[in-house]
Amino acid sequence: MSASRYRVSVDNDRCRRFGICAAEAGQLFRLTPSGGLRYLRAVPAEALPAAQAAVRSCPTLAIELEER
Ligand code: SF4
Repeated sequence: MSASRYRVSVDNDRCRRFGICAAEAGQLFRLTPSGGLRYLRAVPAEALPAAQAAVRSCPTLAIELEER
C-alpha cells in the first residue's frame, strides 16, 4: 500500500467503542477482543475514502483526519 500524507487520530475521551469506524474502514480500525480500539495512524492513499467515511460516521465525532 502506498503512503499518503494523511494521519488519523482518535480522541479516547470521546470514543465509545461502537466500532462503526471498523465497519466503515476495516483496513484502518479494529476493535480488540478486550473492547479497545486499535487503528492505523498513517492512512494509505487507497484507504483515504474509507477513512473519510469513518470520520463522518463516528457518532461521537472522535476521529480526526489531518493532512501532514
Ligand atoms: S466509531 Fe467513533 S466512537 Fe465508535 S469506535 Fe470508532 S472512533 Fe470510537
